[in-house]
Amino acid sequence: MSVRDDRVSRPRIAVLGAGPVGLEAALAGVERGYEVVVYEGASHPSANVRDWGHVQFFTPWSMNVSPRMRRHLDELGHPLEVDEEDSPTGHELADRALDPLWKDESLPIRLALDRRVLAIGREGLLKHEEIASRRRGRRAFRVLLRNAEGREELERAHIVIDCTGKYGNPNTLGDGGIPAPGEEALASRVGRRIPDVRSRPGDWRGRTVFLAGAGHSAQTAALHLAELAEGRGDTRIIWALRRESPGWGAVEDDPLRLRKELTDGARSLAAGASPAVEILRGAAVEELAAENGDTRVRLRLGDSGTEEVKVDRIVSLTGGVGDHALYRQLQVHECYATSGPMKLAAALLGDASGDCLEQGGHGAESLENPEPNFFILGDKSYGRNNTFLLRVGWQQVDEVFDRLAEER
Ligand SMILES: Cc1cc2nc3c(=O)[nH]c(=O)nc-3n(C[C@H](O)[C@H](O)[C@H](O)COP(=O)(O)OP(=O)(O)OC[C@H]3O[C@@H](n4cnc5c(N)ncnc54)[C@H](O)[C@@H]3O)c2cc1C
Repeated sequence: MSVRDDRVSRPRIAVLGAGPVGLEAALAGVERGYEVVVYEGASHPSANVRDWGHVQFFTPWSMNVSPRMRRHLDELGHPLEVDEEDSPTGHELADRALDPLWKDESLPIRLALDRRVLAIGREGLLKHEEIASRRRGRRAFRVLLRNAEGREELERAHIVIDCTGKYGNPNTLGDGGIPAPGEEALASRVGRRIPDVRSRPGDWRGRTVFLAGAGHSAQTAALHLAELAEGRGDTRIIWALRRESPGWGAVEDDPLRLRKELTDGARSLAAGASPAVEILRGAAVEELAAENGDTRVRLRLGDSGTEEVKVDRIVSLTGGVGDHALYRQLQVHECYATSGPMKLAAALLGDASGDCLEQGGHGAESLENPEPNFFILGDKSYGRNNTFLLRVGWQQVDEVFDRLAEER
């Protein structure tokens, strides 16, 4: 383990994760005169957005690039010239708006790639000491990292902003949210990313695919697979829905055309629009087992007993939740239902609407933890709630930096 003793004159902010919200936080930190270091586990920035880069955002450019990013893009000579009402794919957002900023060396941001954050603690303090006391803030954070060669490193910071998202930490397949027996042993057979069916049709054609989940990601996968199967009769999709009648995240009079198309398409598949798609309602995965090259999935179906299907591929898109182990040694008060930070989770529970467009920031206070100067922002801050939108992330960043400025 190498220990860097780099006590600094300016307060140092460690931003965890080089996603869009990590970028926004890093830019805000630079503007406010902090030393900013961003630790990214992958070998490139925007890693999660790239992972589903073939998928189109349902929000348009106008909502997906912050005013702060636009200002920096202009100043650095990479002006964003797009049709603001169009929606980019993940790759397009990364290519046109995020990566030009990450890669611009004139910005005083240290982007440490291939640095996976393993744990965060306080110098000289354990979790149960100085409970919810500002005195904890006098000790630096210790950030334990693992680099690409597997070597561990330790860095220090005065403020930590966790923007590690939740896409990289998917939920498992089994009933009750725990892995199904056999799931861990057969992990290599379970895909947990939105498959790029359109670019790699050969990987899917002629197969029997078991798909689990009913959120927007699963809906996208179902539509792309059904499109591939259309009129050929050689590809079969078994789509397992946990509920008898999912809500699909549909919104009445939806102003977002792409979201409406997605939820309408999913509904119509569930109603039997494609002979290639078999719908299993009220389905709970009981067990996975290997059978030569195939995988057997045993399911419980509502009150109507069990069913066993033999499949070539499994796509599990059952949502995700952030990596909470990172801050096990910090005083973070989490919601017992959503696993999001408590104050924000409570504010979200109070929101009547399930429409993400109705979401705004909930104020700096909702982002504070008992642990001073530790913030969870972005997708991860919403825990199991899946209504997070990037524009909420921009607001969260402003709220946190305004609060830090007040305290300074
Ligand atoms: C398919 C899909 C479609 C979406 N569509 C929309 C949309 O239309 N509009 C909208 O506003 N929002 C949308 N979202 C939601 C949300 O805006 C995105 O998930 C967005 O990428 C969240 O940004 P983020 O910076 O919080 O996290 P992420 O983009 O997930 O970035 C997290 C970063 O942290 C890194 N990381 C993770 N763990 C560690 C670790 N331990 N150490 C170091 N680095 C780590 C990851 O590699 C990644 O680079 C969508 C999400 C998905 C999955």
